[in-house]
Amino acid sequence: METAIYPGSFDPPTLGHVNIIARTAAIFDRVVVCILKNSAKDSGMFTVAERISMLESVTTDYPNVMIDSSSALLAEYARQYERPVIIRGLRALTDFEYEMQIASLNRRLNHQIETMMMVADNSYTYLSSSVVKQLSRFNKDLGCFVPEPVASAVYSKSGF
Ligand code: ADP
Repeated sequence: METAIYPGSFDPPTLGHVNIIARTAAIFDRVVVCILKNSAKDSGMFTVAERISMLESVTTDYPNVMIDSSSALLAEYARQYERPVIIRGLRALTDFEYEMQIASLNRRLNHQIETMMMVADNSYTYLSSSVVKQLSRFNKDLGCFVPEPVASAVYSKSGF
């Protein structure tokens, strides 16, 4: 079984993330979306349990997608799968430099890993979880940026 692992913070999941998940699910037998808890990013707006629940609710249309979380290094986490493919999204050249470095590191740590970069859909190249969090502080409409259940969760975290 060909398994793709899509790792990230997903704090919160955006329509850009969902787009990558949908496209990956159309190619691989199984997609494991994994919330990594060892990210250098600060603790975040949502708990890991809340992120899992949001990701589950926005991926119900894709039966071959499962949601997981881990505090292990990605290269170690990936060992439970046979020849896993790591999927990362590329929005801009700035993403590319960072992703190249991480992909090389992961392959050095675990030779079984292949990393594939998926080019962001044109509609979402500007979109990130940080943008969503920033807009929510100004009570802006999030409908174009995140799936509906995520928008409600973000508003209530922001006190609206
Ligand atoms: P991380 O902390 O690992 O960067 P993110 O949740 O911010 O976690 O992103 C996870 C992955 O999704 C990364 O590969 C990122 O480049 C990609 N990504 C984020 N936003 C988008 C988007 N709008 N379109 C396509 N890919 C995206």
